[in-house]
Amino acid sequence: MFKKILIANRGEIALRIQRACREMGIKSVMVYSEADRDAKYVKLADEAVCIGPAQSGLSYLNMPAIISAAEVTDAEAIHPGYGFLSENADFAERVEKSGFTFIGPTPESIRTMGDKVAAKQAMIRAGVPCVPGSEGALSADPAAIKKAAKSIGYPVIIKAAGGGGGRGMRVVHTEAALLHAVQTTKAEAGAAFGNPEVYMEKFLQNPRHIEIQILADTHRNAVYLGERDCSMQRRHQKVIEEAPAPGIPRRAIEKIGERCAAACKKMSYRGAGTFEFLYENGEFYFIEMNTRVQVEHPVTEWISGVDIVRTQIAVAAGEKLPFTQRQIQLRGHAIECRINAEDAYKFTPSPGRITTWHMPGGPGVRVDSHAYANYFVPPNYDSMIGKLIVFGDTREQALARMRTALAETAIEGIKTNIPLHREIMVDAKFVAGGTNIHYLEEWLSQHE
Ligand code: ADP
Repeated sequence: MFKKILIANRGEIALRIQRACREMGIKSVMVYSEADRDAKYVKLADEAVCIGPAQSGLSYLNMPAIISAAEVTDAEAIHPGYGFLSENADFAERVEKSGFTFIGPTPESIRTMGDKVAAKQAMIRAGVPCVPGSEGALSADPAAIKKAAKSIGYPVIIKAAGGGGGRGMRVVHTEAALLHAVQTTKAEAGAAFGNPEVYMEKFLQNPRHIEIQILADTHRNAVYLGERDCSMQRRHQKVIEEAPAPGIPRRAIEKIGERCAAACKKMSYRGAGTFEFLYENGEFYFIEMNTRVQVEHPVTEWISGVDIVRTQIAVAAGEKLPFTQRQIQLRGHAIECRINAEDAYKFTPSPGRITTWHMPGGPGVRVDSHAYANYFVPPNYDSMIGKLIVFGDTREQALARMRTALAETAIEGIKTNIPLHREIMVDAKFVAGGTNIHYLEEWLSQHE
């Protein structure tokens, strides 16, 4: 096992990985930007190295600075967390070429899955069902684009091959709007992701977002840990996640889960990963694969009893998965609310000093956050400052615990989306379960 790991991230996930290292008896090196200098998790690290100024481009995305930090501290491996460099194949490659272990899949796997066109082609080959769409990237020929849209059937969605974070997508309802939409998405994709390639998919009208968590080792073992329902989204970004997904037959989940695990074996995938699907009328349609730990991993940890971060580290060190598929038993229900520093209804970011920070507790309550009273939320990064996760024997119990936990939570000094979560947890349709990906936005537009 590694003796020392460098954690190339910040905030709650940096602390989550630090905790896993502690538990495993591994020393952790924290890298931080000037904006995160005073954070408690940085001060509590075994070692900490400043890698640059506040701007991510000069710090958390600064590959030479991070690799140098690993060199000067004698770290053996680098955990990239999520976001930042976690799905950057060039980074993974540079980490390995510099003699460190990258805690994640191979650069080739990351590269394939990072290009959504290539990812879909790999899935089709592996027998994973995909959203009907263009075969590969769209050509520059207007007639061919129109023909593709016609055969798929409107509405269609134009998506950037290199897109992520809910950006680089445009829905098209008519042929009149098609070519302009393709041009604009291409231009945006080129500017935002450095890759102007776009592709086309059927725009599913009322799907749910269901994803399958997988874990794979370097000994040809791969398992799936059930599913998560991440349909509660705003602007294609997840707000609430839960596991299992209410109302989906277990047999259907098992079938798609087995396909995902088999695809991992076929691709020689290693580490943690998530297959994201849209689910409509009883069918799953692959949209993308994330080759890293996800924000919402705790809901799966709770119903499966598997520590995903710990397992990532173990398989990166060459260990075998400590369980087989048959040994994975899912039990109970878990729900996660993302806590964002933002206005609960206008969604404008609300960085600044937290004056009061009171977190809930009691049976079945987990808080993953690096924040505390007097912590300053820097304006430079994502607005998520933590996650509140609850577990119950049943969904009803989990909902009741989440309501109590949200009622106990008190954060002052900055605005947060806690008031929104409190309303959603008593919303009749959400409580009934099975709402689709448009539900939250529709709800918000009716509560303006
Ligand atoms: P990203 O990598 O930016 O997260 P995804 O491909 O995972 O992009 O899509 C994010 C979200 O966008 C999905 O959860 C869903 O809400 C919506 N979406 C993507 N593709 C489609 C589609 N073909 N039909 C309907 N909604 C879609």
